Amino acid sequence: MPKQALIEKYANLAVNIGANVQKDQPVVIRATTETKDLVRAITKSAYQAGAKEVIVQWGDDYVSRLGLEHRSAENLENIPEWQVQQTQHFIDIGACFISITSPIPGLNKGIDPSKMQRASVARMKKLSFFQTHMMGNKAQWTIVGAPNPVWAKKVFPSKKEDAAVEELWAAIFKACRITEHNDPVADWEKHNDILSKHNKILNDYQFDRLHFKNALGTDITIGLVKNHVWAGGNEHTTKGTEFNPNIPTEETFTMPHKMRVDGKVVATKPLNYQGNLIEEFWLEFKDGKVVDYDAKCEKDTLKNLLEFDEGSSYLGEIALISHDSPISNAGILFFNTLYDENASCHMALGRAYPMNVEGGTNMKEADLKKLGYNHSMAHSDFMFGSADLQVKGITEDGKEVIIFKDGNFVI
Ligand code: ZN
Ligand code: ZN
Repeated sequence: MPKQALIEKYANLAVNIGANVQKDQPVVIRATTETKDLVRAITKSAYQAGAKEVIVQWGDDYVSRLGLEHRSAENLENIPEWQVQQTQHFIDIGACFISITSPIPGLNKGIDPSKMQRASVARMKKLSFFQTHMMGNKAQWTIVGAPNPVWAKKVFPSKKEDAAVEELWAAIFKACRITEHNDPVADWEKHNDILSKHNKILNDYQFDRLHFKNALGTDITIGLVKNHVWAGGNEHTTKGTEFNPNIPTEETFTMPHKMRVDGKVVATKPLNYQGNLIEEFWLEFKDGKVVDYDAKCEKDTLKNLLEFDEGSSYLGEIALISHDSPISNAGILFFNTLYDENASCHMALGRAYPMNVEGGTNMKEADLKKLGYNHSMAHSDFMFGSADLQVKGITEDGKEVIIFKDGNFVI
């Protein structure tokens, strides 16, 4: 384990910058048993911030895997009513949410992907009201990560298990701007200001579309919805409370137009989906939809993602990150989107964020769809940024502006 002082700084960051827990607000922590030390530190920090009650929803990925193995698909599809009521209760009491991600790579190997698919579709359908609540910024929420031995060994295969875990903690702290000497909360406030400035420049341009090109074969035009909003860094709930959905975050992102994506994108990092790693893949879009694709590894898993629902073969997010970023410079592949997506420009297959269009969080879904919003129960980010990526913005009247040169922001 790393020094307790660093764990406490990290917990404080999750509580005060991530979820920004308010006085007398209930807090729901969603975590696996792998991360109990961090859960305890976050609980303590949340009470120090004035939380009314801290509720922990424990999961265990090994137990879940046994369920997937032994339960029938029909049985897995049966989401009990008490889970729905519990989730609704958290919404009703005005809780904020802190999720700790600690994926166990390869854990679900050997499980029939269609069975996993049916289980997660059923779950997402039944709890879609919760996703709407979160993605509509009706409450503060944040995601932070914590190592587990299997994940750490995947990132640092040549190290012994304990050393790998230590190394992964160190990498996470570095990515989250936590050192023994700094005040991470103050540093994050400064970082959020820089991201806000970037958002403002792009918002002022209101590009009609973006064009991406590199030597790997990416050559794609992505139309943006009218009155799109570039966001990143801190966000606000519909009641005006600031929060940071992801720690760390380096991205500035917006809403692509569902039907206006054309060309080919080549991924530059693997995509972890349902515990499987899709590697060396590309996608070809026409009128917004993926019409062709290939992957060197786990092509079937990619197929599952694309066929998850109607919206999962369309884009819901486009994000810009300079290749010269702290996570990219660390040169580590985390095998976890929370970190890897901050190393590189990415896009997401699936659901868009209503906040990425003006007034979107208060719009009905049908009205959002008219603007080019993509609805899906999936949202999977994949990275395509590279050191030679060129990005051009094109305004409605045809004016071209270079946004990225050789992988980095130049505006
Ligand atoms: Zn993103
Ligand atoms: Zn995303």
